[in-house]
Amino acid sequence: MMRHLRAARSHTAHRRIPRLSPPNLLPALVAALGFLLLATAPSAQAYKWVVLDPGHGGKDNGAYWSGVREKTLNLDLARRVQAILKSKGVPAVLTRTSDVYVSLDQRAAIANKYSDHLFVSLHFNASLNRSVTGIESFYYSSNGRKLASAIQSSLASRIRTKNRGLKKRSYKVLMKTKGTAALVECGFISNAWERKRCNSDWFRQILAEQIAKGIVNFM
Ligand SMILES: [Zn+2]
Repeated sequence: MMRHLRAARSHTAHRRIPRLSPPNLLPALVAALGFLLLATAPSAQAYKWVVLDPGHGGKDNGAYWSGVREKTLNLDLARRVQAILKSKGVPAVLTRTSDVYVSLDQRAAIANKYSDHLFVSLHFNASLNRSVTGIESFYYSSNGRKLASAIQSSLASRIRTKNRGLKKRSYKVLMKTKGTAALVECGFISNAWERKRCNSDWFRQILAEQIAKGIVNFM
């Protein structure tokens, strides 16, 4: 890098390039390196529990398209993620284990019974525009953003659909849980192609593997 700077300085056409010498460059490089390390390093906090939250349930179907109920997909996916995490020695619990209605406050209260927890709410998406597809993750806190990012990039590395990225939202379950929290929308069941995939066991298993991988990477 320095050789390029020196070469640039000796060239009259590049006079505007600031005269950076090693002592000036070093702090900037150290800061940049530190930022990169912080952005990619696993969380420094020790988490004892992963609380998985299958969205909706009971009287609340969530999205409902062509006979496919979001609440059913969410619970199946949560069970799969739980099984994978347990197989890796990570204690994981669910906010509901059957087709029952659990309020958002109750979900947060269940999670808050587990000290040092990570909270991941699992959902499938829908839009009145049936051409919309993709996976997106939501967060509220800055730690939540890191968790959402770890899950979203793990999903995006394997699943071919639109990567809709990370979004900050003041969702109740994200704000009321004391632990680090994220919410994942695993695909649009309003889109015929994505619904067929999301409604398949093999696909939910891949979703589960990538979500579990993202969680473990964050921890
Ligand atoms: Zn939902």
